Amino acid sequence: MAYVSHRVQKFFEGLKKIQNSASWTQLTRAQQRVIENQIRDNRLSGIELTGEAKDQFNAISKELSKLAQGFSNNVMDATKDFSLTIENIDDVKGMPFSFLSLASQSWNQKSKEQSSTPEKGPWLVTLDYPSFGPFLQHGPNRELREKVYRSSVTKASKGKFDNSHHITKILELKSQLCSLLGYSTYAEMSVASKMAPDVDAVEKLLNELRDASRKPSRDELAELQKFAKTKGLNDDLKPWDVPYYSEQLRTEKFDYSEDEVRQYFQYPVVLEGLFSLVKLLFNVKIEKETKPVEVWHKDVAFYNVLDADGQKIAAFYIDPYSRPENKRGGAWMNVCIDRGQSKGNTITPVAYLVCNNTPPVGNNPSLMTFREVETLFHEFGHGLQHMLTTVDHVSVAGINGVEWDAVELPSQFMENWCYHKDTLMGLTKHIETNKKLPDELFDKISSARTFLSASAMVRQLLFGLVDIELHHRYTPSKSSESVFEVNQRIAKETLALVPLPEDRFLCSFSHIFAGGYSAGYYSYKWAEVLSADAFSAFEETGLKNDDEIRKMGHKFKETVLSLGGGEDPMKVFKAFRGREPKTEPLLRHSGLL
Ligand code: ZN
Repeated sequence: MAYVSHRVQKFFEGLKKIQNSASWTQLTRAQQRVIENQIRDNRLSGIELTGEAKDQFNAISKELSKLAQGFSNNVMDATKDFSLTIENIDDVKGMPFSFLSLASQSWNQKSKEQSSTPEKGPWLVTLDYPSFGPFLQHGPNRELREKVYRSSVTKASKGKFDNSHHITKILELKSQLCSLLGYSTYAEMSVASKMAPDVDAVEKLLNELRDASRKPSRDELAELQKFAKTKGLNDDLKPWDVPYYSEQLRTEKFDYSEDEVRQYFQYPVVLEGLFSLVKLLFNVKIEKETKPVEVWHKDVAFYNVLDADGQKIAAFYIDPYSRPENKRGGAWMNVCIDRGQSKGNTITPVAYLVCNNTPPVGNNPSLMTFREVETLFHEFGHGLQHMLTTVDHVSVAGINGVEWDAVELPSQFMENWCYHKDTLMGLTKHIETNKKLPDELFDKISSARTFLSASAMVRQLLFGLVDIELHHRYTPSKSSESVFEVNQRIAKETLALVPLPEDRFLCSFSHIFAGGYSAGYYSYKWAEVLSADAFSAFEETGLKNDDEIRKMGHKFKETVLSLGGGEDPMKVFKAFRGREPKTEPLLRHSGLL
C-alpha cells in the first residue's frame, strides 16, 4: 500500500513540476486539462497533507463514509418499517390497475396466506416511491393519504432509525474536512471541481429562478385550491391533497391516452427521424453496419457514424427494448471504446446506448411512449458528446473529465428537440393510418410540459438552496437553529405551501447525506439552465431556415461536443453561446415568463 501511495505522490509532484515549467505553455489545452484535473483531484483527496493533518483527514473521511452508509441503512430500514393495509374497496376506488397489482403483490409478499388479488385486495401501501407516489396521487380516502404522507415526511426521524444525529455529525465533520484542505466552507470545496465558478454564482442562479417562480407557484396553488373546491373539498389544501388534486386537474386539462400517442411513435421511424436531425445539426451520417457484428442480444444493433466525406468517425451499439429478466430499468449511455491515439492512428470512439422501450408485439414494431422518445434523445445526446469528440486524451475525451454540473448539457439539449413541432412531427407515423401526430395531441403534449411547472421548480429549488445553506453557512455546533429550522425558514421563503412543522424530509435526503450530492444538488438546475440556453440559440435562428440551423449546429459540434472535457466548461459554453448562461430560456420553456 505504501508503495502505491508513494508512486501517486511522486506522480503528483511530477505533474506540479510540469505545471510550473516553461514547457507548460507548449502543451495543448486538452493536455493541460488532463494535468489540472489530476492535480485538483489529488489535492481534494488530501495528497498535500502531512503528519497530524493527514491522519485527521483520513480518519474523518473514514468516519464520513461510515455515517453515509448508516444514513442509507436507516432510510432503508425506516422505509421497510412502515406499511398500511387497506381492506375496504372504497379506499382504492378509481385507482390505476398498476398500483393495485403492486399493492396486492406487496401484501402477498408480507402475508403468509398470499390471498390478495389486485381486484379484491387486501392491498399494502409502503413508503417505496412506486407505492406511496401513486397512492398520494390517486388515493380517494383523505385520512389515509394524510397518514401515508405524514409517515413519508417523518421517515427515519425517530426511534431506532433516527437520522437526525447522523445529519449533525456529517455536517460537523464535513466542515472540519474542508478546513483541513484550506476551504472555508464545504460548498466552496464542492464547487472547486465543478463548472460553477463559485458558491455565489450557484446562489445567484437559484435565487433568480426562485424570484421568477414564486408568484406563479402561488397562483398555481390558488388555482388548485379553487379546483379542489369544485370537487367537494371544503378545507384548505393540505400537502397530502396537492398530488391528488393535481392529478385530477391534469387529467381534466390535457389527458391524452398514452396508448393513443404510442400508435404514432414507431421505433424505426423515431430512430430515422433522430438520425436526420443529427445529420442536419452536425453533418454526420448514421448507417447501420451491414457486416455481421457480434452482439449480446438479437435486438441489439450496431451503427457507424460517418463524417461529411464518408469517413467512419465513431460507432455505437443500441439495445432498445425492456428485458426485465436480465436488464435493469432506466436508460443509460456507456463508453465502449474511448477516442485516443495509437501508433499514429486515431482510435474511433464507440458508445453503448441502452434503453428500456416497450418491446415490439406480434408483427408490429415497438410503439414508444413520448417519455421513451425523450429518453432516447437524452441518451443519444450523451452519446454524441462521446462520439463527436476531437480530443485524443482519454481522461478528457468526450464525456470524460466534464464537470458534473455540465455533463447533462448535451443530453438535455437533445431532449428539447422533442418539443420542437417540426422535429417531433418528423418522428411520427401512425401504425395503421400512416398519419402524422394530430396538432391537438401535439398541443396536449407540449402544454403538459408546463403544467404546475412553478410548483415543481420551487420544490427543486428548495432542495438546492437548503443543501447550499447547510454546507456553506451552517455549522451545527455554532448555530442556534436546528437543520430542520433551516429547512423551514428557507421553505417559507420559497414554497407556496409551507411544509408541516414536524416535516423531517432531511432525514431521508440521501442525495446530500449519503449520495455524493453534498453542495451539488444545484447541479440539476444548473444543467437545465445550460441546456435550455443552448437550445435557445437555435430558437433565435427562428428554427425555420435549415442553413441557419446547420450553422448553429456546427458551432455546437465544434464547441460542446468536440471539446468535451478538454477545456474549462464555462469557456466551452461561452465559445458556443458568446456569453455566460442565462436563466431566461429555462423559465420561458417552463412557461414562467
Ligand atoms: Zn443524462
